Amino acid sequence: MIRPDGVPGVAFGTRSDGDPRSDDHARTLVSLSLGIPAAWAWVRQVHGSAVTEPGAPGVGVEADALISTDPALPVAVSVADCVPVALVADGAVGMVHAGWRGAAAGVVPAAVTALTETGHPPHTAVIGPGIGPCCFEVGDEVAKRFPGHQTSTSWGTASVDLPGAVAASLDGLEVHLVPECTYHDDRFHSYRDDGTSLRQFGVAWIAAA
Ligand SMILES: [Zn+2]
Repeated sequence: MIRPDGVPGVAFGTRSDGDPRSDDHARTLVSLSLGIPAAWAWVRQVHGSAVTEPGAPGVGVEADALISTDPALPVAVSVADCVPVALVADGAVGMVHAGWRGAAAGVVPAAVTALTETGHPPHTAVIGPGIGPCCFEVGDEVAKRFPGHQTSTSWGTASVDLPGAVAASLDGLEVHLVPECTYHDDRFHSYRDDGTSLRQFGVAWIAAA
């Protein structure tokens, strides 16, 4: 598990934590180690820009970002190359699933706006482990959606710096970046690497002050 320094209420899973979305036992163990309720709220992720504030745990509506103002309700996304993004406010949190489609559709600023509209503007964001610019090979159609964030893979083909593009959309927040790349680092599930159906998680909860 990855716990960003200095940002309570945020954790990202690795392969060894299991898949807490499909495995209740894995989620229970992770929750015990974090000291949080084991019933998390999820969404049916569709690579869009919709944000929801779930009223109950479990898998809710189609959306790619969740916000919570309830200390008893952690919010989570499942990822395997897409970028999990935690948003932390005083008295609220958000968690975002940002693949290239969602990022291009503006899901990250949409979640910032949704939190702000609840009266809890986020002050800090943590960009969790996703596919890095080292490995996110793309064609022209994707590259042109990310002007200013085009770079090269470690093998010399065109790539996009998706975590960097996400960071750039968080203007005004204190941004922490977990630099691990899910594609080339074997500690993480990578859909692009092996087509796995397994996912790691990003979870955020309202930490006690
Ligand atoms: Zn990489």
